[in-house]
Amino acid sequence: MNKFSLAIHGGAGTLIKGMMTPEKEIAYKNALRNALSKAYHILENHGTAIEAVAKAVVELEDSYLFNAGKGSVFTTDGTHEMDASIMDGKDLNAGAVSLITGIKNPITLAKDVMEKSEHVFLAGEGALKFAKSLDYTLEDKTYFFDELRYQQWNEIKDTDSFQLDHSLKKDSKFGTVGAVACDQNGNIAAATSTGGMTNKRYGRVGDSPMIGAGNYANNKTCAVSCTGSGEFFIKGVVAYDVSCLMEYKGMSLSEAASEVIQKRILEIGGDGGLIAVDAKGNIAMPFNTEGMYRASRISGEKEKISIYTN
Ligand code: ASP
Repeated sequence: MNKFSLAIHGGAGTLIKGMMTPEKEIAYKNALRNALSKAYHILENHGTAIEAVAKAVVELEDSYLFNAGKGSVFTTDGTHEMDASIMDGKDLNAGAVSLITGIKNPITLAKDVMEKSEHVFLAGEGALKFAKSLDYTLEDKTYFFDELRYQQWNEIKDTDSFQLDHSLKKDSKFGTVGAVACDQNGNIAAATSTGGMTNKRYGRVGDSPMIGAGNYANNKTCAVSCTGSGEFFIKGVVAYDVSCLMEYKGMSLSEAASEVIQKRILEIGGDGGLIAVDAKGNIAMPFNTEGMYRASRISGEKEKISIYTN
């Protein structure tokens, strides 16, 4: 049996250490543990990497703690516009959605784009029409309402500024979510989902739904899910860059992931982190922010759940 493994994240950049209360830390860790164990269970029972990453992300989307699905941040119009993508390293199949509202689990819709349409990327109204054709029901705004997110938005809604969760230096909540997995057959997959940036406008789309930028999987190299300053992750084509360093330069997973996060993204002015696996089940989780909500488990080993650098 191949070694199998799973890693998840709930966003890079966390509450600054002094503002994290023991209660909040427990809540975040419990949410990560829940998502990790449900997805790990799938891998343990011979499920596929794609099933595992989709399950992990659904669980994180259903938590109000993270900036995805239920916990998505507010746009400048007081709505929620969510982005998600998923990719199968076995055959490079991929699905992505962007600028969607009312969908409880954007990652499920991205997976449906991959499996039930002839396309890779559907956006806005069109993506919602596709969802309706598959009998999705739309949640109303109250499902996505969260007091703290609302306050974050209220503080800046009449200004031109927009905010990445992880750039806030005060008591707040964070977190695009993602998962990467290697299953018992050595197939790997990646999934990423986000509400984007508070007060975003003009149909702003970040890296999370962009194949190659915020999300990528290829059995030959690695599966990657990113979190951070999306504009820079797009310019750096970060997820694909990790894959390229492995494929063309022969770097190991951890060398390639560190090169991109500790060097290349910083050089162009970006910050954040990523989680990655290779087809041997190795895991890398580098970040250059104060913390990154993260959890991982390799078969035969114990789970690891961390927020800060220790
Ligand atoms: N990368 C995401 C975006 O730019 C945000 C994040 O990771 O927190 O939409």
